[in-house]
Amino acid sequence: MLRQPPTREQLRRALALVEGEVRWREPLAPLTSLQVGGPADVLVIPADVEDVIRVIRGAHVNHIPLMVLGGTNVIIRDKGVRGMVMQLKHLTHIQEEADHLVYAQAGVRLPRLMQFALGRKLSGMEWAAGIPGTVGGGVVMNAGTRLGEMKDVLQAVDFITANGKRKRIEATMLTFLYRKTTLPKGIVVGAWLKLRAAAKATIQSATKQYLQYRKATQPLTLPNAGSVFKNPIGDSAGRLIEAAGLKGLRMGDAEVSTKHANFIVNRGTATADDVLTVVRTVQAGVAKKFGVRLQLEWKVIGER
Ligand SMILES: Cc1cc2nc3c(=O)[nH]c(=O)nc-3n(C[C@H](O)[C@H](O)[C@H](O)COP(=O)(O)OP(=O)(O)OC[C@H]3O[C@@H](n4cnc5c(N)ncnc54)[C@H](O)[C@@H]3O)c2cc1C
Repeated sequence: MLRQPPTREQLRRALALVEGEVRWREPLAPLTSLQVGGPADVLVIPADVEDVIRVIRGAHVNHIPLMVLGGTNVIIRDKGVRGMVMQLKHLTHIQEEADHLVYAQAGVRLPRLMQFALGRKLSGMEWAAGIPGTVGGGVVMNAGTRLGEMKDVLQAVDFITANGKRKRIEATMLTFLYRKTTLPKGIVVGAWLKLRAAAKATIQSATKQYLQYRKATQPLTLPNAGSVFKNPIGDSAGRLIEAAGLKGLRMGDAEVSTKHANFIVNRGTATADDVLTVVRTVQAGVAKKFGVRLQLEWKVIGER
């Protein structure tokens, strides 16, 4: 049975105690790095962690779907998202605790976390150079590169359960997969990261090298949402797409990047439909040529 979308009255009730910003029918495309997709019924920007808890409890009690948007590894469908979308842009506190242990709230962007670590001569986050997502998204996705992953530094997660209880989850209690951390249902509001002391110049040089590599190999001047597909075991999605002759494939303004075949770029006015048509065409082309079914790394969100 299809679930009915929440009414405005139900949403209002769910948000009655929330102190942060509430925006009705808010377009989400500008909040995503790919810049496609429709509006949220309601976008909520909680004032602080206590307010996140109010949002979660309101959504829970009123049976309203709720998701967090960082915006850099998702594609929002053109009809948008029913229910509540939450942006954690006020959760931006970072501090160094004892023994090179850094606590960062979930809304901190990884580049800022890296700047913070560099300022304190803390190494361990260099793998994240050029990843634009948030700490929360990075934990949920087990963000990473061939140099390292979130799981390498994560000590514990500051977490709010689906019914609004705050708890600390030790990393040792979690399973980390390729671009996925197996967390219970709920929302990450922060993370403790175990870094180590290093010379500033060493950290800077590793970061610079990796940023240069990205600049040379990835289409960073056009809107995109990072790698589209997961790499199949022992191979690379980009290689398969290129070898299937699909580099440059274009639907409307959505294009398989000519610089890196595992990126889809928005050349101006692409819709989510254009992008998803390119995704399906690439999957079919690679399956036909190599018998490999490419799995999406992106999260596809919203109403069909
Ligand atoms: C140019 C570019 C390069 C990139 N390179 C890499 C790379 O090398 N490696 C890599 O791993 N990724 C890469 N990415 C993708 C992306 O930045 C990461 O996956 C990032 O971890 C996603 O973070 P986000 O905050 O944007 O989350 P989103 O993409 O918005 O969300 C991803 C999923 O996590 C959920 N989520 C987000 N925050 C929370 C939270 N606080 N609590 C609960 N659920 C949450 C969302 O609902 C969604 O299901 C790249 C992206 C771009 C645009």
